[in-house]
Amino acid sequence: MKQERIYLSPPHLSGDENAYLEETLASNWVSPVGPHLDAWERELAERMGSKDCCLLNSATAAIHLSLILLGVGPGDVVFIQTHTYAGSVYPIIYQGATPVFIDSEPDTWNMDPRALEEAIQSLLEKEEGSAFKKQQLKAIIPVHLYGMPAKLDEILAIGKKYGIPVVEDAAESLGSTYQGKYTGTFGKTGVYSFNGNKIITTGGGGALVSENGELINRARFLSTQARDIAPHYQHSEIGYNYRLSNVLAGLGRAQMKVLDDRIKARRANFERYRHYFEARNKEGFHIEFQSEPENCHSNRWLSCILVDPEKNEGIDREKIRQVLEKENIESRPLWKPMHLQPVFREYPFAGGNVAESLFNTGLCLPSGSKLTESDFQRIVKALDTCFSNP
Ligand SMILES: *Cc1c(COP(=O)(O)O)cnc(C)c1O
Repeated sequence: MKQERIYLSPPHLSGDENAYLEETLASNWVSPVGPHLDAWERELAERMGSKDCCLLNSATAAIHLSLILLGVGPGDVVFIQTHTYAGSVYPIIYQGATPVFIDSEPDTWNMDPRALEEAIQSLLEKEEGSAFKKQQLKAIIPVHLYGMPAKLDEILAIGKKYGIPVVEDAAESLGSTYQGKYTGTFGKTGVYSFNGNKIITTGGGGALVSENGELINRARFLSTQARDIAPHYQHSEIGYNYRLSNVLAGLGRAQMKVLDDRIKARRANFERYRHYFEARNKEGFHIEFQSEPENCHSNRWLSCILVDPEKNEGIDREKIRQVLEKENIESRPLWKPMHLQPVFREYPFAGGNVAESLFNTGLCLPSGSKLTESDFQRIVKALDTCFSNP
Protein backbone atom coordinates (compact mmCIF):
# COMPACT_ATOMS: atom_id res chain seq x y z
CA MET A 1 0.00 0.00 0.00
CA LYS A 2 1.26 3.44 -0.93
CA GLN A 3 1.93 5.71 2.03
CA GLU A 4 0.20 9.07 2.29
CA ARG A 5 1.92 11.83 0.34
CA ILE A 6 4.15 14.24 2.24
CA TYR A 7 3.72 17.61 0.53
CA LEU A 8 6.29 20.37 0.19
CA SER A 9 4.33 23.09 1.99
CA PRO A 10 0.64 22.33 2.53
CA PRO A 11 -1.88 24.65 4.22
CA HIS A 12 -2.03 24.34 8.01
CA LEU A 13 -5.28 25.45 9.61
CA SER A 14 -5.33 26.79 13.16
CA GLY A 15 -8.72 25.38 14.15
CA ASP A 16 -10.17 28.85 14.69
CA GLU A 17 -11.15 29.32 11.04
CA ASN A 18 -14.59 27.74 11.43
CA ALA A 19 -15.63 30.19 14.10
CA TYR A 20 -14.61 33.12 11.88
CA LEU A 21 -16.37 31.61 8.86
CA GLU A 22 -19.60 30.95 10.72
CA GLU A 23 -19.61 34.41 12.21
CA THR A 24 -18.93 35.97 8.78
CA LEU A 25 -21.69 34.00 7.06
CA ALA A 26 -24.15 34.85 9.83
CA SER A 27 -23.27 38.55 9.53
CA ASN A 28 -23.78 38.39 5.72
CA TRP A 29 -20.58 40.37 5.04
CA VAL A 30 -19.86 38.05 2.11
CA SER A 31 -18.23 40.57 -0.19
CA PRO A 32 -15.02 42.53 -0.70
CA VAL A 33 -16.19 44.97 2.00
CA GLY A 34 -16.63 44.26 5.67
CA PRO A 35 -15.41 44.32 9.25
CA HIS A 36 -12.76 41.57 8.91
CA LEU A 37 -11.07 43.42 6.07
CA ASP A 38 -10.87 46.62 8.12
CA ALA A 39 -9.79 44.80 11.28
CA TRP A 40 -7.15 42.63 9.64
CA GLU A 41 -5.68 45.59 7.77
CA ARG A 42 -5.21 47.37 11.10
CA GLU A 43 -3.88 44.25 12.84
CA LEU A 44 -1.46 43.39 10.05
CA ALA A 45 -0.12 46.94 9.75
CA GLU A 46 0.31 47.18 13.50
CA ARG A 47 1.95 43.78 13.80
CA MET A 48 4.41 44.48 10.97
CA GLY A 49 5.13 47.97 12.24
CA SER A 50 3.89 49.59 9.05
CA LYS A 51 1.71 52.67 8.80
CA ASP A 52 -1.01 51.17 6.64
CA CYS A 53 -2.05 48.05 4.76
CA CYS A 54 -4.38 47.17 1.88
CA LEU A 55 -5.61 43.58 1.60
CA LEU A 56 -5.76 42.17 -1.93
CA ASN A 57 -6.61 38.88 -3.60
CA SER A 58 -2.97 37.97 -4.33
CA ALA A 59 0.62 39.11 -3.92
CA THR A 60 0.86 39.33 -7.70
CA ALA A 61 -1.92 41.96 -7.57
CA ALA A 62 -0.02 43.76 -4.77
CA ILE A 63 3.12 43.94 -6.92
CA HIS A 64 1.05 45.10 -9.88
CA LEU A 65 -0.55 47.91 -7.86
CA SER A 66 2.87 48.86 -6.42
CA LEU A 67 4.17 49.39 -9.94
CA ILE A 68 1.10 51.38 -10.94
CA LEU A 69 1.47 53.56 -7.81
CA LEU A 70 5.11 54.19 -8.72
CA GLY A 71 4.07 55.24 -12.20
CA VAL A 72 5.73 52.36 -14.06
CA GLY A 73 4.63 52.37 -17.68
CA PRO A 74 5.65 51.42 -21.21
CA GLY A 75 9.35 51.95 -21.87
CA ASP A 76 10.32 52.00 -18.17
CA VAL A 77 12.81 49.66 -16.52
CA VAL A 78 12.30 47.58 -13.36
CA PHE A 79 15.26 45.76 -11.76
CA ILE A 80 14.25 42.40 -10.34
CA GLN A 81 15.97 39.45 -8.78
CA THR A 82 16.18 36.68 -11.40
CA HIS A 83 15.95 33.93 -8.78
CA THR A 84 12.25 34.21 -7.92
CA TYR A 85 8.76 33.08 -8.80
CA ALA A 86 7.18 34.31 -12.06
CA GLY A 87 4.47 36.13 -10.07
CA SER A 88 7.08 38.74 -9.11
CA VAL A 89 7.77 39.49 -12.78
CA TYR A 90 4.44 39.29 -14.62
CA PRO A 91 3.22 42.69 -13.33
CA ILE A 92 6.26 44.39 -14.92
CA ILE A 93 5.11 43.01 -18.25
CA TYR A 94 1.45 43.94 -17.56
CA GLN A 95 2.69 47.55 -17.34
CA GLY A 96 4.59 47.32 -20.62
CA ALA A 97 7.91 47.88 -18.82
CA THR A 98 11.19 46.01 -19.26
CA PRO A 99 12.45 43.73 -16.48
CA VAL A 100 16.22 43.72 -16.00
CA PHE A 101 17.08 40.49 -14.21
CA ILE A 102 19.73 40.63 -11.47
CA ASP A 103 21.80 37.65 -10.34
CA SER A 104 21.88 36.33 -6.75
CA GLU A 105 24.70 36.50 -4.22
CA PRO A 106 25.75 33.18 -2.69
CA ASP A 107 24.92 33.81 1.03
CA THR A 108 21.22 34.63 1.07
CA TRP A 109 20.60 33.55 -2.55
CA ASN A 110 18.86 36.92 -3.07
CA MET A 111 19.59 40.00 -5.21
CA ASP A 112 23.31 40.71 -5.53
CA PRO A 113 23.75 44.43 -4.75
CA ARG A 114 26.92 44.59 -6.86
CA ALA A 115 25.24 43.16 -9.94
CA LEU A 116 22.35 45.59 -9.33
CA GLU A 117 24.60 48.64 -9.28
CA GLU A 118 26.49 47.45 -12.35
CA ALA A 119 23.23 47.01 -14.22
CA ILE A 120 22.08 50.53 -13.27
CA GLN A 121 25.42 52.08 -14.23
CA SER A 122 25.60 50.29 -17.52
CA LEU A 123 22.10 51.48 -18.48
CA LEU A 124 23.00 55.05 -17.46
CA GLU A 125 26.32 55.04 -19.30
CA LYS A 126 24.53 54.01 -22.41
CA GLU A 127 22.05 56.81 -21.81
CA GLU A 128 23.14 58.98 -24.71
CA GLY A 129 21.54 57.58 -27.78
CA SER A 130 20.31 54.51 -25.85
CA ALA A 131 16.79 53.37 -25.17
CA PHE A 132 16.72 54.38 -21.48
CA LYS A 133 16.79 57.70 -19.61
CA LYS A 134 17.47 58.02 -15.89
CA GLN A 135 13.84 58.81 -15.10
CA GLN A 136 12.79 55.57 -16.80
CA LEU A 137 14.57 53.46 -14.15
CA LYS A 138 11.45 53.14 -12.00
CA ALA A 139 11.76 50.39 -9.39
CA ILE A 140 13.99 47.78 -7.75
CA ILE A 141 12.33 44.55 -6.56
CA PRO A 142 14.39 42.43 -4.16
CA VAL A 143 12.80 39.15 -3.03
CA HIS A 144 13.29 37.52 0.39
CA LEU A 145 13.40 33.97 -0.91
CA TYR A 146 12.36 31.05 1.24
CA GLY A 147 11.96 33.61 4.04
CA MET A 148 15.58 34.83 4.05
CA PRO A 149 15.96 38.61 4.05
CA ALA A 150 17.89 40.03 1.09
CA LYS A 151 20.86 42.38 1.65
CA LEU A 152 18.54 45.32 2.29
CA ASP A 153 21.08 47.88 3.56
CA GLU A 154 23.09 47.71 0.35
CA ILE A 155 20.04 47.55 -1.93
CA LEU A 156 18.28 50.48 -0.21
CA ALA A 157 21.49 52.54 -0.39
CA ILE A 158 21.74 51.91 -4.14
CA GLY A 159 18.06 52.83 -4.54
CA LYS A 160 18.70 56.07 -2.68
CA LYS A 161 21.87 56.87 -4.60
CA TYR A 162 20.14 56.59 -7.97
CA GLY A 163 16.68 57.78 -6.85
CA ILE A 164 14.94 54.48 -7.61
CA PRO A 165 12.25 53.27 -5.17
CA VAL A 166 12.36 49.74 -3.74
CA VAL A 167 9.35 47.38 -3.76
CA GLU A 168 9.96 44.48 -1.39
CA ASP A 169 8.59 41.13 -2.51
CA ALA A 170 8.09 39.63 0.95
CA ALA A 171 5.58 37.06 -0.34
CA GLU A 172 7.61 34.25 1.26
CA SER A 173 8.99 36.09 4.28
CA LEU A 174 6.03 37.12 6.44
CA GLY A 175 7.39 37.38 9.98
CA SER A 176 11.09 37.36 9.01
CA THR A 177 13.13 40.23 10.42
CA TYR A 178 16.14 42.22 9.26
CA GLN A 179 17.94 44.18 11.98
CA GLY A 180 14.95 43.54 14.22
CA LYS A 181 12.40 45.01 11.80
CA TYR A 182 9.92 43.00 9.70
CA THR A 183 10.68 42.40 6.04
CA GLY A 184 8.19 44.18 3.80
CA THR A 185 8.48 47.42 5.80
CA PHE A 186 11.77 48.73 4.38
CA GLY A 187 10.75 49.62 0.84
CA LYS A 188 8.40 52.25 -0.53
CA THR A 189 5.91 49.38 -0.57
CA GLY A 190 6.06 45.78 0.63
CA VAL A 191 4.10 42.75 -0.49
CA TYR A 192 2.90 39.62 1.38
CA SER A 193 1.19 36.50 0.02
CA PHE A 194 -1.43 34.28 1.65
CA ASN A 195 -1.49 31.70 -1.13
CA GLY A 196 -2.12 28.09 -0.07
CA ASN A 197 1.58 27.16 0.09
CA LYS A 198 2.74 30.17 2.12
CA ILE A 199 3.48 30.29 5.87
CA ILE A 200 -0.09 31.37 6.65
CA THR A 201 -2.91 31.24 4.13
CA THR A 202 -6.37 32.47 3.24
CA GLY A 203 -6.53 30.01 0.35
CA GLY A 204 -5.45 32.90 -1.86
CA GLY A 205 -4.71 36.48 -0.90
CA GLY A 206 -2.11 39.17 -0.53
CA ALA A 207 -1.31 42.45 1.17
CA LEU A 208 0.35 45.71 0.29
CA VAL A 209 1.98 47.68 3.13
CA SER A 210 3.56 51.12 3.15
CA GLU A 211 4.58 53.99 5.37
CA ASN A 212 2.75 56.20 2.91
CA GLY A 213 -0.96 56.19 3.79
CA GLU A 214 -1.88 58.00 0.59
CA LEU A 215 -0.40 55.22 -1.53
CA ILE A 216 -2.40 52.65 0.41
CA ASN A 217 -5.61 54.65 0.06
CA ARG A 218 -5.01 54.82 -3.64
CA ALA A 219 -4.41 51.06 -3.73
CA ARG A 220 -7.80 50.56 -2.05
CA PHE A 221 -9.42 52.79 -4.68
CA LEU A 222 -7.76 51.10 -7.67
CA SER A 223 -8.35 47.57 -6.31
CA THR A 224 -12.11 48.15 -6.05
CA GLN A 225 -12.63 49.16 -9.71
CA ALA A 226 -11.74 52.86 -9.30
CA ARG A 227 -15.20 54.08 -8.40
CA ASP A 228 -15.61 57.82 -8.07
CA ILE A 229 -17.66 59.17 -5.18
CA ALA A 230 -21.16 59.36 -6.68
CA PRO A 231 -24.55 57.68 -6.13
CA HIS A 232 -24.28 56.01 -9.54
CA TYR A 233 -21.31 54.09 -10.94
CA GLN A 234 -18.86 56.63 -12.27
CA HIS A 235 -15.25 56.05 -13.31
CA SER A 236 -12.56 58.53 -14.29
CA GLU A 237 -9.69 56.02 -14.21
CA ILE A 238 -8.99 52.39 -15.04
CA GLY A 239 -9.55 50.14 -12.03
CA TYR A 240 -8.86 46.56 -11.01
CA ASN A 241 -10.88 43.87 -9.27
CA TYR A 242 -8.10 43.04 -6.81
CA ARG A 243 -9.70 43.35 -3.36
CA LEU A 244 -9.68 40.45 -0.88
CA SER A 245 -13.06 39.10 0.18
CA ASN A 246 -14.20 39.79 3.72
CA VAL A 247 -14.78 36.02 4.07
CA LEU A 248 -11.10 35.34 3.43
CA ALA A 249 -10.03 38.21 5.68
CA GLY A 250 -11.79 36.32 8.49
CA LEU A 251 -9.67 33.24 7.72
CA GLY A 252 -6.61 35.48 7.70
CA ARG A 253 -7.33 36.77 11.19
CA ALA A 254 -7.53 33.19 12.47
CA GLN A 255 -4.26 32.34 10.71
CA MET A 256 -2.47 35.45 11.90
CA LYS A 257 -2.84 34.33 15.51
CA VAL A 258 -0.65 31.30 14.86
CA LEU A 259 2.04 33.01 12.78
CA ASP A 260 4.63 32.79 15.56
CA ASP A 261 3.95 29.06 16.03
CA ARG A 262 4.29 28.50 12.30
CA ILE A 263 7.63 30.28 12.24
CA LYS A 264 8.86 28.19 15.16
CA ALA A 265 7.76 24.98 13.44
CA ARG A 266 9.41 25.91 10.13
CA ARG A 267 12.63 26.90 11.86
CA ALA A 268 12.56 23.60 13.76
CA ASN A 269 12.23 21.76 10.41
CA PHE A 270 15.31 23.54 9.16
CA GLU A 271 17.32 22.68 12.30
CA ARG A 272 16.33 19.09 11.90
CA TYR A 273 17.52 18.92 8.29
CA ARG A 274 20.68 20.80 9.21
CA HIS A 275 21.41 18.31 11.96
CA TYR A 276 20.90 15.43 9.53
CA PHE A 277 23.09 16.84 6.76
CA GLU A 278 25.83 18.02 9.10
CA ALA A 279 26.17 14.39 10.16
CA ARG A 280 26.43 13.36 6.46
CA ASN A 281 28.97 16.11 5.90
CA LYS A 282 31.14 14.59 8.64
CA GLU A 283 31.14 11.41 6.52
CA GLY A 284 32.66 13.34 3.63
CA PHE A 285 29.60 14.75 1.87
CA HIS A 286 29.24 18.46 1.25
CA ILE A 287 25.63 19.63 1.51
CA GLU A 288 25.13 23.39 1.82
CA PHE A 289 22.33 25.61 3.19
CA GLN A 290 20.99 29.10 2.74
CA SER A 291 22.88 31.06 5.38
CA GLU A 292 21.19 33.36 7.86
CA PRO A 293 23.20 36.56 8.40
CA GLU A 294 23.65 37.56 12.05
CA ASN A 295 21.28 40.52 11.87
CA CYS A 296 18.48 38.41 10.34
CA HIS A 297 15.80 36.06 11.59
CA SER A 298 14.26 34.05 8.77
CA ASN A 299 10.86 32.40 8.98
CA ARG A 300 12.58 29.49 7.14
CA TRP A 301 9.46 29.11 4.99
CA LEU A 302 11.17 26.36 3.00
CA SER A 303 14.21 24.32 4.02
CA CYS A 304 16.52 24.01 1.04
CA ILE A 305 19.84 22.33 0.35
CA LEU A 306 22.51 22.63 -2.32
CA VAL A 307 23.97 19.37 -3.59
CA ASP A 308 26.90 19.75 -5.95
CA PRO A 309 27.45 16.29 -7.49
CA GLU A 310 31.17 16.95 -7.80
CA LYS A 311 31.44 17.28 -4.03
CA ASN A 312 28.95 14.51 -3.23
CA GLU A 313 30.20 11.36 -4.94
CA GLY A 314 28.03 12.04 -7.97
CA ILE A 315 24.77 12.43 -6.03
CA ASP A 316 22.78 15.33 -7.46
CA ARG A 317 19.56 17.02 -6.45
CA GLU A 318 17.62 15.12 -9.11
CA LYS A 319 18.63 11.79 -7.65
CA ILE A 320 17.48 12.91 -4.18
CA ARG A 321 14.24 14.25 -5.61
CA GLN A 322 13.52 10.95 -7.37
CA VAL A 323 14.35 8.83 -4.32
CA LEU A 324 11.96 10.97 -2.23
CA GLU A 325 9.30 10.86 -4.96
CA LYS A 326 9.44 7.06 -4.99
CA GLU A 327 8.47 7.18 -1.32
CA ASN A 328 5.63 9.58 -2.16
CA ILE A 329 7.49 12.53 -0.65
CA GLU A 330 7.35 15.82 -2.54
CA SER A 331 10.45 17.98 -3.02
CA ARG A 332 11.23 20.55 -5.71
CA PRO A 333 14.22 22.21 -7.37
CA LEU A 334 14.85 25.83 -6.35
CA TRP A 335 13.24 28.50 -8.55
CA LYS A 336 14.40 28.36 -12.13
CA PRO A 337 15.93 31.79 -12.81
CA MET A 338 13.65 34.14 -14.72
CA HIS A 339 16.30 35.01 -17.32
CA LEU A 340 16.34 31.32 -18.29
CA GLN A 341 12.55 31.07 -18.64
CA PRO A 342 11.36 30.78 -22.25
CA VAL A 343 8.82 33.58 -21.77
CA PHE A 344 11.43 36.10 -20.51
CA ARG A 345 14.29 35.14 -22.84
CA GLU A 346 14.40 38.49 -24.62
CA TYR A 347 15.05 40.62 -21.51
CA PRO A 348 18.44 41.75 -20.16
CA PHE A 349 20.29 39.96 -17.35
CA ALA A 350 23.13 41.26 -15.17
CA GLY A 351 25.51 39.04 -13.25
CA GLY A 352 27.20 35.67 -13.44
CA ASN A 353 26.00 32.14 -12.86
CA VAL A 354 25.05 32.16 -9.16
CA ALA A 355 21.28 31.87 -9.68
CA GLU A 356 21.78 29.33 -12.43
CA SER A 357 23.96 27.17 -10.23
CA LEU A 358 21.47 27.46 -7.35
CA PHE A 359 18.85 26.08 -9.73
CA ASN A 360 21.13 23.30 -10.91
CA THR A 361 22.11 22.10 -7.45
CA GLY A 362 19.29 23.23 -5.13
CA LEU A 363 16.37 21.28 -3.71
CA CYS A 364 13.48 22.40 -1.46
CA LEU A 365 12.62 19.72 1.08
CA PRO A 366 9.22 19.08 2.71
CA SER A 367 8.78 22.07 4.99
CA GLY A 368 5.18 22.15 6.16
CA SER A 369 4.56 23.39 9.69
CA LYS A 370 2.67 20.21 10.55
CA LEU A 371 5.36 17.67 9.60
CA THR A 372 5.22 14.91 12.20
CA GLU A 373 7.89 12.78 13.81
CA SER A 374 6.86 9.85 11.62
CA ASP A 375 6.97 12.05 8.48
CA PHE A 376 10.54 12.95 9.39
CA GLN A 377 11.40 9.29 9.91
CA ARG A 378 10.14 8.52 6.40
CA ILE A 379 12.09 11.42 4.91
CA VAL A 380 15.31 10.49 6.74
CA LYS A 381 14.96 6.85 5.72
CA ALA A 382 14.65 7.86 2.08
CA LEU A 383 17.61 10.24 2.36
CA ASP A 384 19.66 7.47 4.00
CA THR A 385 19.18 5.18 1.00
CA CYS A 386 20.48 8.01 -1.17
CA PHE A 387 23.57 8.76 0.89
CA SER A 388 24.52 5.19 1.75
CA ASN A 389 24.74 3.84 -1.82
CA PRO A 390 25.87 6.62 -4.11
C1 LIG B 1 4.00 33.19 -4.01
C2 LIG B 1 4.85 34.28 -4.52
C3 LIG B 1 4.33 35.36 -5.24
C4 LIG B 1 2.93 35.44 -5.70
O1 LIG B 1 2.01 35.34 -4.69
P1 LIG B 1 0.45 35.13 -5.05
O2 LIG B 1 -0.23 35.52 -3.79
O3 LIG B 1 0.31 33.67 -5.36
O4 LIG B 1 0.12 35.99 -6.20
C5 LIG B 1 5.19 36.38 -5.62
N1 LIG B 1 6.49 36.33 -5.33
C6 LIG B 1 7.03 35.29 -4.67
C7 LIG B 1 8.48 35.31 -4.36
C8 LIG B 1 6.24 34.22 -4.25
O5 LIG B 1 6.78 33.18 -3.64
